Amino acid sequence: NVVDTASLQASLAEQGVKYAMASYVDIHGCVKGKFVPLDHLDNMFKGSELYTGAALDGVPQDISDNEVAAMPDADSVAVCPWDNRLAWFAGDLHLDGEPFEACSRTILKRQLDRAKAMGFTFNLGIETEFFLFRETEDGGFAPISKRDSLAKPCYDPRGMMDNLEIIDELVEAMNGLGWDVYSFDHEDANGQFETDFKFADALTMSDRFVFFRMMANEIARKHGAFASFMPKPYSDKTGSGAHYNMSLADAETGENLFSPDAGDPYGCGVSELGYQFIAGVLKHARAISAVIAPTVNSYKRLVRQGSMSGSTWAPVFACYGNNNRTNMIRIPGVGSRVECRAADIACNPYLGAALVLAAGLEGIENAMDAGEPHRENMYRYSDQEIDAMGVTMLPRTLGEAITDFAADPLAREVFGERMFGAYVDFKQDEWESYHTGVSAWEIERYLKLF
Ligand code: GLU
Ligand code: MG
Ligand code: MG
Repeated sequence: NVVDTASLQASLAEQGVKYAMASYVDIHGCVKGKFVPLDHLDNMFKGSELYTGAALDGVPQDISDNEVAAMPDADSVAVCPWDNRLAWFAGDLHLDGEPFEACSRTILKRQLDRAKAMGFTFNLGIETEFFLFRETEDGGFAPISKRDSLAKPCYDPRGMMDNLEIIDELVEAMNGLGWDVYSFDHEDANGQFETDFKFADALTMSDRFVFFRMMANEIARKHGAFASFMPKPYSDKTGSGAHYNMSLADAETGENLFSPDAGDPYGCGVSELGYQFIAGVLKHARAISAVIAPTVNSYKRLVRQGSMSGSTWAPVFACYGNNNRTNMIRIPGVGSRVECRAADIACNPYLGAALVLAAGLEGIENAMDAGEPHRENMYRYSDQEIDAMGVTMLPRTLGEAITDFAADPLAREVFGERMFGAYVDFKQDEWESYHTGVSAWEIERYLKLF
């Protein structure tokens, strides 16, 4: 579809925009890009903005390779609410005029096309949990306001009211972009927030998610704070999830095919198609973890309790159930959708959505059986009991996760040879660098023990 860049340019200029960003993401799902004066918008849409992939984390290119070009998607346009001189466009990377096989967004689009060929649209809502911190004079960080030290901050309006000027600006920005925020709250850790907005097709949602992290940071900085998307900044408090709420709709009519109206074999609130999707996701849960819980720190969140006094609300086992937060896959109260709770806020949403979708579609293609749901508190079981029940543990570390990712043929197929290799290399390095470093914990524990 040809973009009328002249009228796009005129409309952006009218909104005060001076520069457009031809952006794309690195392996972490972090936004990268150059700024293009609006007079060059037409060139930008022809792929004028070239990037040397080797300069970025996990973009598998050698420094001697041809540069990749960012091809903006006009539908994704967002005038940056924190600075209307800037307009942002999500984009796909091309190499020598062809889609670059190792582009995260292209990898998701390939799976969306596959879903479409099967008659499905993949709808996704991602919940955004994150922390707002301020920098302290000693170079550390602290929750943004005094009352963030509330003893039990979950759903506490006081923690929200103290910081309303930041959250209000963020919510207004999200709504100004047409995202339709339906609620926001203070979460279970001090200085932890969540802003929830309406689901969309998975490509739109992934574009919004990467933009969200950039936007929350920029808005927080205006108020002398910063937003952190580290999955687990405190050992003794809850981490930040990014629950994927997923459903398949009829690609023609838009009808939600996970609706239990036509029959609900396990009584948890989704259709047979929904259970098959779940079965596929559970089968590949350990490889999926390497993508939706992508950092060393992610695995400190996926624990029952650890050094926490209460529950983490984060999953530890690859199982599913009804409205039960101790499973990896939960079917929330109203049903008609499937929530994957293992995902965290540090994920690259394009890669995460691509692999989860592919696993779900495999479940549907093979009419897989999800088995009986778990309605009980899974945290109560020991690892031995879990094993005896035939339930798979989620990986305990990034090292385990990446080993399973590397061994899963579905991961290879979805990522494509080049990105698969790059992902495995990058994450193995990340793990090795952590694993081989001697930590303060070890010094404290062992230095004088013997
Ligand atoms: N913060 C929890 C997590 O790490 C989730 C809490 C909730 O259910 O909203 O996933
Ligand atoms: Mg939450
Ligand atoms: Mg949730």
